[in-house]
Amino acid sequence: SERVLDIDARLFNEQRQILVMSYDMTQVRQLEKMQQDFVSNVSHELKTPVTSLIGFTETLLDGAKDDPETTTAFLQIMEKDAKRLQALIQDIIQLSKGQQALDDPVQPVFLYELLNQIAENYATQRKAKDLTLTINGDPDLTWSTKVALFYPIAKNLIENAIKYSPEGKKITITYAVTDVLTLTVADEGFGIDSDDQQRIFERFYRVDKARDRQSGGTGLGLAIVKESIEKLGGKIEVQSHPGVGSTFTVILPVL
Ligand code: ADP
Repeated sequence: SERVLDIDARLFNEQRQILVMSYDMTQVRQLEKMQQDFVSNVSHELKTPVTSLIGFTETLLDGAKDDPETTTAFLQIMEKDAKRLQALIQDIIQLSKGQQALDDPVQPVFLYELLNQIAENYATQRKAKDLTLTINGDPDLTWSTKVALFYPIAKNLIENAIKYSPEGKKITITYAVTDVLTLTVADEGFGIDSDDQQRIFERFYRVDKARDRQSGGTGLGLAIVKESIEKLGGKIEVQSHPGVGSTFTVILPVL
């Protein structure tokens, strides 16, 4: 009977190995599928503006260029297409940079200076919509981090708050360090309903395709935010109500 047991144990072990292997394969396949989806999404997103650019170029060359008004109108569309391509390429580069930034040294950054610099970079968009932006936090506070991962987190959250706010609203950025860094970006913008809140961190997910594309977004911003936060060992939460506004809270541990 000992032999039977022995064989049983071996069978059991073999089955376990098979189980373990098939589990691993599922993960590999999931990863492969995610990469395939990403490539096909990227191709699609790149194709749309390129097709449009070629179409308008051909129409202009075919004679539309003889009418100055048509030329101006077409060139404005073409500029938008080109900017869209630029934004997509920048975000795709950012996604792959994140991987390399894992090995970066940890350096102290002045939080106020960095956040204020980002806000300044969007001064034109803010003024166009008469948005008030406030930064709350100790101006002398530093935080030691991998800047190449930290910067895109703050940049994308601030950019979104500006993009998804209607005229005359307030944006409030708050930071504090206890044993962790807490950074919140709060807006009084369009808000996000709870079903969409689950999905906004996925690559290329947009709540309202037409509106969000119009705003110049690529659908990659929050994916970059989430992936950068994961690489820094932190987490992000969103609280939002449609028509009221959104608050994104980032918590990062000491590295
Ligand atoms: P995008 O480049 O389109 O802005 P993101 O990945 O940054 O893509 O965000 C995904 C979607 O989440 C956006 O298209 C938008 O619908 C929604 N969203 C992100 N931030 C906000 C915000 N502060 N207020 C309202 N909606 C937001």
